[in-house]
Amino acid sequence: MTAGGRPGVFRKVTSLANPLVKDIRALHLKKYRDETGLFLAEGRKLVRDALDGGWPVHTLVFQAEQANDPAVGQLAAEVKAAGGTVLEVSEAVLGKIARRDNPQTVIGVFRQSFAPSERIGAGGLWVALDRVRDPGNLGTIVRTADAAGVAGVALVGQCCDPFALETVRATMGSIFHVPLARASEEALVAHASRSGHRLIGTHLSATEDYRGADYSPPAILVMGNEQQGLSDSLARACDLLVRIPMRGKADSLNLAVSTGLMIYEALRATL
Ligand code: SAM
Repeated sequence: MTAGGRPGVFRKVTSLANPLVKDIRALHLKKYRDETGLFLAEGRKLVRDALDGGWPVHTLVFQAEQANDPAVGQLAAEVKAAGGTVLEVSEAVLGKIARRDNPQTVIGVFRQSFAPSERIGAGGLWVALDRVRDPGNLGTIVRTADAAGVAGVALVGQCCDPFALETVRATMGSIFHVPLARASEEALVAHASRSGHRLIGTHLSATEDYRGADYSPPAILVMGNEQQGLSDSLARACDLLVRIPMRGKADSLNLAVSTGLMIYEALRATL
């Protein structure tokens, strides 16, 4: 994707064929997010969260009818001051960019950012997600981690894209507040062993109840894939495996729900 005009510029765009519109719209696709390192955040709240969190902004798009709204003016001024491009667009252009009817009237394009993998475990409790596949689960977990005060979320192995629009939406802005890091399973295990973090895994066949387990820091909670659970090798590498008791006929809890329970129990036990 081109830079979208020189940094710090303001443009009005009404043509659906404008190449900037095509470039921004392409960010719905992972291929283009990977190529450009950019992603979309919809709505004033998310754009505000991103700017407040110091995320590098590339472009702000807003619907022309919002031009006199002071809050939108403030966002536009901040984006321009940060060297980003500000686009005032028609409703039709916004709908095309958002790929939906009745889109949010403000959309931001930001640069993706990951914490280095050496930071996993630093600053408090981290949650490691083994091959998480569902964007809604990942977004909900990031939001829960933010609410609970978790220090970071590690994406282990082949995970879904945290910067997909669906994930960003599900985080409700928390993606801008919780450090995300990536690591292979081998790298996570080696890092935990070097840094002295215990890996506390969750497993349906564990015998230890998650209530009252030893979560004393430094520790990293490890959650499994939605279909397959923890890989056998990662389960073996864990220092402790715990289970959340279930009374009904469900085989398992949803990943995001069980992660929420684990986070709150681990923090309750150690604060
Ligand atoms: N069929 C998978 C299995 O056999 O593990 C189910 C995976 S479950 C939907 C996804 C993840 O949520 C699990 O790997 C685990 O991390 C967590 N989880 C779900 N229910 C749990 C429970 N009762 N106790 C501990 N962890 C649980």
